[in-house]
This record gives sequence, structure tokens and C-alpha cells, in this order.
Amino acid sequence: MFECNQKVKDLVPYDPVTGMYRIRLDANESYITLPLEIKQEIAEAVSEIHYNRYPDPYAQGVCMGFAKYFHVPADCVTAGNGSDELISVIMNAFLQKGDTVMTLEKDFSMYAFYTSIVECRHVAYQKDESYGIDTDAVIRQANAERARVLIFSNPCNPTSHVMQRKEIVKLLTSVDALVVLDEAYMDFSDQSLLSEFDRYDNLIILKTCSKAMGAAAIRLGFAVANKTLTDVLKAVKSPYNVNAVTQTIGEILFSHPDYIDSCIKRLTEARDDLYARLLLLAQAYPNRLRLTPTQTNFVFAETSEAAEIFAYLKACGIVVRLMGDRLRITAGRNHENDAVCTEILNYLKGEVHEKSAN
Ligand SMILES: *Cc1c(COP(=O)(O)O)cnc(C)c1O
Repeated sequence: MFECNQKVKDLVPYDPVTGMYRIRLDANESYITLPLEIKQEIAEAVSEIHYNRYPDPYAQGVCMGFAKYFHVPADCVTAGNGSDELISVIMNAFLQKGDTVMTLEKDFSMYAFYTSIVECRHVAYQKDESYGIDTDAVIRQANAERARVLIFSNPCNPTSHVMQRKEIVKLLTSVDALVVLDEAYMDFSDQSLLSEFDRYDNLIILKTCSKAMGAAAIRLGFAVANKTLTDVLKAVKSPYNVNAVTQTIGEILFSHPDYIDSCIKRLTEARDDLYARLLLLAQAYPNRLRLTPTQTNFVFAETSEAAEIFAYLKACGIVVRLMGDRLRITAGRNHENDAVCTEILNYLKGEVHEKSAN
């Protein structure tokens, strides 16, 4: 009889929120949908794809588009089927069974997950109450534990906290580990290390089209690293990891830099708007709701009533992300930010209405 091995036997498939909600603020997606002109350009380009042929294994067109937009050399860019895939490729490439991976918790849960799949040891640095990171403590722990890979998001999902560039440089130059810096949300902040990625022999920066770029549907992410590390990633990834449709759409997206800039601006404004509205609630109910400053496209709120608020919002047709005694709320359209704040206020005021699920 076949039995699954230890590392996978208790796993369950990823289960995002499903169901009908009028407002979805749970997955940090962009609320902006592609304009009609770009959709038409995509439709035409997609109709020209040679569907009988394999795509370009190195996705050169889209890597060049990314490189141009972010001012990095194209031969230092590796494309992936979402940056999620690239996390897995990195771990497969640079770790051997039993090696140590260090994360800075709380952080993106996929880091620990892929660590377990490659049968490596997971060591976690615990952030303080305000989600701050003591760089010297991280360095001491990484070196004492002989971490081979140190992976974290900056700005952080879910805490929204951003580490300063000079702190990251200190980390990079003080640990022996490969540092994987996930800048999925850096478009909403200003501490990117992209412009100096090749000064370090141990740095890989991850980027994604799923957040600021508003293209979560196409599954497209990038790793930026020096030539040596890039060559390893290209050798280890599966040959045709980014399909032809995604490559085509990605290329078109990056050919509209003004559009991307405008998306970043609008999403940042929406984030500031949501934060300002929630801050009024946190000030009115300081014992029940606390916010952390945000450098992302979402707001992280701490409340001992997280589960109750989550359920109340769901009954109002609004879905956010529940994480223990925290809520992570993605910035949406103006009316969506308004609605989520109005309903949280109604909850806090103790007004209970009969709500239907949609
Ligand atoms: C959303 C997110 C990603 C992006 O993943 P994709 O696979 O590119 O959609 C990567 N890292 C973090 C921290 C994220 O929140």
C-alpha cells in the first residue's frame, strides 16, 4: 500500500477565501482593472501566439520590459510563474536537505512552507511588539544558526513595516547566508535595493506583477540578482515556467510605464485614504483597535475582537483577511474603503443589523 511521506502527509491544499462577497479586501490585489485600450492590445497580441510551439524558456521580452522599467540589466532578471514559484526555485537551488532557513516572523507564510518541502530546518527571528527588527540581533542569530538562506519581505506582509535600506545593507554584509529580499510591496515605499543589487554576492530581490501592477491573474514574478546567482536560477527552474500568454501580456504591461506609474500613485492614495479613515476609528476606540503605520497597499490592525469583526464584515458582504488577533485589510476603491470603515464603526458602536451574505 502506498503511503505519503512525512513531509507531505498532513498538508492541505491552499484555501483562499471563496464565495460571493460584494467587496474583496482580503488578498492585497490591486482594485484597478486594465483599461480597454490595453485589453484590446493584449487581445490582438494573444491572437498571434503560436500555440503549437513552446514559449521562450527565458522569457526574454518580458524580462527586458521589466529591466527597462526598473533600471536593471536584463541579463540579471529571471522570470517566474509568480514570485511564489521563484521562492521554490531559490530554495531548490541554494539549499541542501538539512540546511537552515531563517525568516523574520510574522512574515509571508510561503517561506516556511517551501522550507519544509525542501526538508530544511526553519529558524525564526521573532519581531518585537511594534514589528520592529533589531538588525544586530538578526545578524547574531543568522550566524549562530549558520543560516544558509535568510528570506523576508520588505515592506512586510502582513505587518506593513518597512526596514530601512541601510539596515538591510548591514545585514547583507554581515551574514554568510544568501539573502532573499522580497520587495513585492516596495512599489508603495521607498527603500528598494534594486539599484544596487549587484554590489552583493549574496542578494536576490523578488518582485511581482500581482500587487502594484494589478496583474495577479497572469502569474508573473521576477528575481533580480548578480549574474552568477541568475545563471543558477535559470539552470534550476523548469524550462518553460512562464507560458506564452503571460509573457505576451507582461511585455505589453511593461510597454506602458505611465500606466504602471499611475496605478502605483492611485493605490498609494487609496492606502493613505484607508489608513486615515481607520485611524479615526482607532482614535475613537483606542482600547479596541490599534493600527500599525503602513508602507504597503493594505492596513494591519490589531484587535482582540478580530474574529468578531471579521464575521461581522463577512455578513455585510465584505471580506478581509483574519490573522489571529489581527485583521489585514487591502486598500480598495473609495466606496469600498468607505464601506469597510463604516461597517467596522457599526460593529464598534454595537449596532447589530440583519445582514445577508451578499
Ligand atoms: C503577494 C506576495 C507575493 C507575490 O506572489 P506572486 O506569486 O507573484 O503572486 C510575494 N511575496 C509576498 C510577501 C506577497 O505578499
